[in-house]
Amino acid sequence: MSQTEPLVVQVALDVPLPQTFDYLPPDDEALPPVGSRVVVPFGRRTLVGIVLGHEAASTTPSQLKTIERVLDRALVDEDLLALHQWASRYYAYPIGACVSLLLPPALRRPEGFRAPRPQAYQLTDSGRAADVGRAPARAKVLSSLKEGALSTESLTEQGIKTSTLKTLTDLGWIAPCPRPAGEPPTKGPVLNSEQSHALSEISSALGRYQAFLLNGVTGSGKTEVYLQAAQAVLARGQQVLMLVPEIGLSPQLIRRVESRLGVAAVVYHSDVAEGERLRAWQMAKDGEATVVIGTRSAVFLPFASLGLVVVDEEHDGSFKQMDGPRYHARDLAVVRAKHLNIPIVLGSATPSLESINNVNQDRYQTLVLSEQASQAPPPRWRVIDQRGEVDGLSSALLERIDHHLTHGGQVLLYRNRRGFAPVLMCQACGWQADCTRCSAHMTLHQTQQNLQCHHCGSQRPKPNRCPSCEDPNLIALGAGTQRLEEALSQQFPDHPIYRVDRDAMTGRDDFETLLDRVKQGGPCILVGTQMLAKGHHLPKVSLAAVLDVDASLFSGDFRAPEHLGQIVYQVAGRAGRVAMDDGPAGEFILQTRHPEHGLLSSLCTGRYLDFATELLAERQAAGLPPMQSLALVRAEAHQTPPVLAFLEEAQARLRHRGLTVLGPIPSMMPKRSGYWRHQLWVQAATRPELIQGLSEGLSELQALPSAKRVRWHIDVDPVSL
Ligand SMILES: [Zn+2]
Ligand SMILES: [Zn+2]
Repeated sequence: MSQTEPLVVQVALDVPLPQTFDYLPPDDEALPPVGSRVVVPFGRRTLVGIVLGHEAASTTPSQLKTIERVLDRALVDEDLLALHQWASRYYAYPIGACVSLLLPPALRRPEGFRAPRPQAYQLTDSGRAADVGRAPARAKVLSSLKEGALSTESLTEQGIKTSTLKTLTDLGWIAPCPRPAGEPPTKGPVLNSEQSHALSEISSALGRYQAFLLNGVTGSGKTEVYLQAAQAVLARGQQVLMLVPEIGLSPQLIRRVESRLGVAAVVYHSDVAEGERLRAWQMAKDGEATVVIGTRSAVFLPFASLGLVVVDEEHDGSFKQMDGPRYHARDLAVVRAKHLNIPIVLGSATPSLESINNVNQDRYQTLVLSEQASQAPPPRWRVIDQRGEVDGLSSALLERIDHHLTHGGQVLLYRNRRGFAPVLMCQACGWQADCTRCSAHMTLHQTQQNLQCHHCGSQRPKPNRCPSCEDPNLIALGAGTQRLEEALSQQFPDHPIYRVDRDAMTGRDDFETLLDRVKQGGPCILVGTQMLAKGHHLPKVSLAAVLDVDASLFSGDFRAPEHLGQIVYQVAGRAGRVAMDDGPAGEFILQTRHPEHGLLSSLCTGRYLDFATELLAERQAAGLPPMQSLALVRAEAHQTPPVLAFLEEAQARLRHRGLTVLGPIPSMMPKRSGYWRHQLWVQAATRPELIQGLSEGLSELQALPSAKRVRWHIDVDPVSL
């Protein structure tokens, strides 16, 4: 660098502004390269940032502040920065978000962090040759490690002190290492012909980009395909990233992956303790972590040599980040695989319309697993009219439950409402208990005797009389899981009833423990929400039912039918997956007050893909995603006028950029947590035009004075309205 042209360093900072910030390099150090982690003064604060570039100083360098410290030179790889740059433009969020997306929390603070305790230790060559003399504590460590690495836990369990481990590490006699896998890999089951075909297609794509949609019904053995493909990747000395929905990251899955592959899986999600997250990040970056299982944020992990990405339950909404940078981890994973030139497998029994469309457009290759692991016949489907039901259970359904229980079957009932009743109403005047902060009814919770808003979390005691007319007759309308549990235990007093929802299952292992009990037990009823729908294998369940689908039939959200179809097929897949020798035949029931509704008849063909194809045609006709790209500009404030004022100005600016803009229209839930919400629908003839228009428009919208009076954001490819 010549003296005449001083270079400034462009630093990304996690602040809600669209640009990077210029700093002078530290006085007596070389220029920090791109990807370096630096500490800089920002206003009155000191922030951690990432160096994104260098350029010739445009402002007088004397007006610029100097980087305080360079923490790590070139810490973040260029390929991740490139991925982030792509995402930041595509999803129209500030480039500075890379600090929070690419660094684990421990690395985002200027004051440093406490290094996590090593997971395990192994002997070094000098440790093997070391003479401990008369130091029994040291001798104990060295002899324990003679046979191979041991986890830190098992060493401390032998009474070895952490300080001894540290001393020996400092001496260079032992060294931290990844947690040993323990058992050698176990052999998997023999694959059926469809599984073998899927595996050979994936294996032959190793080392180049190819996106696969692995469409397999519940119980068809998708996980086994992932595992054997992962084995092939490990054999090449490469790493595997497996993304799962938040609800899917179970100890059961981790155990299965570890025992089948014979490696210690590294887990990465936001609930993992900070030290563990830092370690996982470091191990992935160093290549020590061969298999990483994580939720959506793991898509931004650094890898030394990534060879395969798997996205399980690719249709799941939790892959979309709902605040801050609103990226979609599945879609970003595909972009990443393309950049890295490696294959990616998206798996689902009920693929998203986006992925099915990508197959139709020849962007993804489809692999189908249709055979059930056993040769059990598919369950029989029935639609039951629930008009005249009591406590959410029609007499026809009760009769079927009784049949299955008395014939030794287990019953699984899905209801997407926790609590006792979704509405509390006054019989005299029609008053309903609504949340004062949201446009929503409050849910009656019987155990706590209170009303809870499931949207903003506010609670208040259940009133004894109507606040409007003082009438004491308040009635609970509809049935949530608590009410169903109560009604079922009256109807079937001789059978265990298990409720599965967020209120009943508070500990991380509660659900696993329950599942183990159910697997080993006799006839019983499981009633619950979302958690129940996911693919845990419950071989004795012969009857599965979705209890109230009506809200989805009339929803204003164009994705509601797709989500309904996914839930219905997931729950139906739980019935009779393995026929018991003398058990009842598998049966699936849909309870509705609108049995004649057209959507239900196309849903009940029994083939999800046919249903999805119909929905795609409807989306095509209506100009909706995935056939047409869509973005929302959402805004909210305590009053409506500033929201409308901003959105109207935003609309004019975006139209000026050639985009088609509808609105402002109220959000699906017009008021939430005290904020009134409206949105603009933004579309363009092609996706690149949409992205181009939004990324150019972003800073223009940010500069609007009306933007300062509301909370607003852009959501590209929104999953909820
Ligand atoms: Zn009243
Ligand atoms: Zn509320």
